[in-house]
Amino acid sequence: MIPSRESSRRACVRGESAVARRLATRLRFVFRSSPVLAMSLEEETHHELRKEEELRVEVAHGRFVHVTLTDGTAEIFGAEIAKGAAVKLPGGKHAIFTWSGASLTLRGTPEHCYAASETPMVTYANVEGVLEKRREKARADPTTFDGPRVALVGPTDVGKSSVSKILCNYAVRKGWHPLFVDLDLGQNGIATPATVGAVPVDRTIDPTEGFANARDLPLVYFHGDASPGNNPELYMHLIENLSAMIDKRNETNKDAKSSGIVVNTAGWVDGVGYKLLLRALDALKITDVLVIGQERLHAELKRDFFGKTIERTNQPIEVWKLPKSGGVVERSPAFRRASRDAAIRAYFYGADGDLRPSSTTVDFGKVSVFKIGSGPRAPSSALPIGQKTSADPLRVSTVAPSMGLLNAVLAVSHGKTQTEILNQNVAGFIFVTEVDMANGRFTYTSPAGSGALPSRNLVVGTLKWIET
Ligand code: ATP
Ligand code: MN
Repeated sequence: MIPSRESSRRACVRGESAVARRLATRLRFVFRSSPVLAMSLEEETHHELRKEEELRVEVAHGRFVHVTLTDGTAEIFGAEIAKGAAVKLPGGKHAIFTWSGASLTLRGTPEHCYAASETPMVTYANVEGVLEKRREKARADPTTFDGPRVALVGPTDVGKSSVSKILCNYAVRKGWHPLFVDLDLGQNGIATPATVGAVPVDRTIDPTEGFANARDLPLVYFHGDASPGNNPELYMHLIENLSAMIDKRNETNKDAKSSGIVVNTAGWVDGVGYKLLLRALDALKITDVLVIGQERLHAELKRDFFGKTIERTNQPIEVWKLPKSGGVVERSPAFRRASRDAAIRAYFYGADGDLRPSSTTVDFGKVSVFKIGSGPRAPSSALPIGQKTSADPLRVSTVAPSMGLLNAVLAVSHGKTQTEILNQNVAGFIFVTEVDMANGRFTYTSPAGSGALPSRNLVVGTLKWIET
């Protein structure tokens, strides 16, 4: 089951009320510039949007811009913003769209800011309308129909993550509670990079904090790499686990079953990436594949899904083509790395920088560190003739303490046995700030105030983070 807890913060290390933690840690860090001082130097600009226009705002990583709706209505990737309240936009690229017209005030210095009148929002809203009808059908006749299971697919930088947010937010605004699933290891919207996960969307997604405010804890599985390429079998294994959990949840939760799921996928759509995508869509029993931004991919998926049907109703699996927004900008590898680092920072420090993680030193003897698989496999051409590679990609083995753990982001597993460590979701993450081999101990930072770990079993991958 997807664990449920009131006002939980994210897949955090458990042991303390998330709300209490947030309140107790509303202290600023010395290395962050004082927001009050910064604000007084920041400029203010006003923007008038006509109906169906959007303001596109690019903010540098580590900075914030505040936007206030002074008149009309507006939404950020489908999440309505309230009149009069400043919304804090973190580093990244944002769009503030209005259906009926809006007056906005922007405080801060964005890298770019412009209004656009051409957007694909009407098409996205029409898609939501079709999904809405299916949800209603599923609610009226749950023995015959399920809610839609939608996947957003396409190459990198076409708006997959943004459209999944829009679809989730529109569904929530109509009273549904879809499950958002993120399969992108590189730019994961739920937890840190190198994970896949799911979170029930029970309120619109916060433009500043993402899913940090979701009422339910997300279900997060740790892969360890920011790309599935080094261990595709593990990637598929985690997706299959995730799928089984979704089915189990739907058995007892009618609302979830009719609301359906919205799946964001990774932008690797060539070669092995395409094969993994097909397997993932299959594993999650996707009913509607929404392809953004590439005709070829759309054609390939149309071909590969031809004749395939949804198990229960025998209706065809639909492959749709969606237009890409002109606002989606290509992100350089450096920007992606910065986004990954920002996601890890946000996990430990809060998107606002308002959490105070704790530092703890423990003996290596107090924990066990595991890895899954055995790293990149030797190609069979590198082995003696006749010998097959014996590496098992799902093998869980212990890792001896070494300096190699320095700066590693480790998952804290719920699993107690090696099989459980492979199959269970993780409680949260810590990162290693110091390794003291001479004294057999290490120091880690944990988002939970007390620093105590809910489990002694840690999992290491290749994910590292150097605090700057
Ligand atoms: P990836 O494959 O890297 O995960 P993606 O296909 O998921 O990319 P998004 O992350 O949704 O693409 O969009 C790329 C960037 O463009 C993001 O920073 C997003 O916030 C921004 N963006 C999306 N839509 C708009 C828009 N209409 N106006 C301005 N920026 C936008
Ligand atoms: Mn994405």
